[in-house]
Amino acid sequence: MAQVFKTQVTEDFGIEHPIIQGGMMWVSQPELVAAVSEAGGFGILTALTFETAEGLADAIARTRALTNRPFGVNLTFLPTLIPKDYGSLIDVIVDEGIKIVETAGRNPEPYLERIKAGGAKVVHKCTSVRFAKKAESIGCDYVSIDGCECAGHPGEEDITSLVLIPATVDAINIPVIASGGFADARGLVAALALGAEAMNMGTRFVATQEAPAHEKVKQWYVDASETDTMYVMRSLRNTERVLRNEIAEKVVELELQGAGIAELAPLVSGKNGLRVLKDGDTDVGLMTAGQSVGLVRDVPTVRELIDTIISEAQQIAGTRLAGMMS
Ligand code: NAD
Repeated sequence: MAQVFKTQVTEDFGIEHPIIQGGMMWVSQPELVAAVSEAGGFGILTALTFETAEGLADAIARTRALTNRPFGVNLTFLPTLIPKDYGSLIDVIVDEGIKIVETAGRNPEPYLERIKAGGAKVVHKCTSVRFAKKAESIGCDYVSIDGCECAGHPGEEDITSLVLIPATVDAINIPVIASGGFADARGLVAALALGAEAMNMGTRFVATQEAPAHEKVKQWYVDASETDTMYVMRSLRNTERVLRNEIAEKVVELELQGAGIAELAPLVSGKNGLRVLKDGDTDVGLMTAGQSVGLVRDVPTVRELIDTIISEAQQIAGTRLAGMMS
């Protein structure tokens, strides 16, 4: 579909549409990432999904075999059950000439010089105005600000996107990407109206044909309403938003009894989450999703999804909103 919205992000990233597929553990695989970039958006691989430097290099090569268009790599610095070798993953990102790196989870300052040595621009994904200001001050190029509606890690302050995005736009001078709660054309127009240069979606992309998720998981997303997510791990100050299931309820029950990460690990481990995703065993682990899961009602191809969002957003901005102005 031809370009409709030209923003600083579409220009800088070399893409048609201001739609970014955020880094999702296990989900951001080459097929999905390439499909998003081929449809005019910006796909992002998640480095930790591939575990080793060789695994990441192979994923980058597989993505390049599927698309000539730009895509990025996410590096998340959150606590993990098994230590990760960030240095070797960054070496691959630099050696492969990745131009956009999405960092998340913690201040990326210790790694910034190495990441940028290869000429990459850094999008730091964070959950508060304070962290956004810090990201700007240490030399990040963009901030992706994540309202607490988001999937995965919303931070600990519970500020919704409607407030967090304009507050961030007002507080920093680098371009802002809107994350958390976005799933359709209305969200895209709202993101741009709030001052963002693009919208980031995760949850919506899980329920697409190209996402590497079991059919039962995609159907779970279609069936779930906006009230079907919940927080786990708040007591560890590492809050995660997931779909409500028996494991999530058990984790919160154990947290109320004072359990630490050692007791929670067998339940919250990403390896169990991978079983949910791949095998469709929806009660063996945690499955992240944002509140926008309540807006997911079908399982289109990525191209159908992006084309629909752009044409509906054009209608909303160009006809509905324009028609309201006297
Ligand atoms: P994992 O199996 O190592 O850990 C499972 C969960 O427990 C994660 O939420 C992790 O942050 C948490 N955890 C681990 N050790 C902890 C500790 N000592 N204290 C508090 N919490 C602890 O996770 P994984 O599935 O292999 O994923 C690797 C990392 O990437 C995780 O930190 C994950 O949260 C993160 N990640 C998140 C997103 C997202 O939210 N969209 C995307 C990419 C990666």
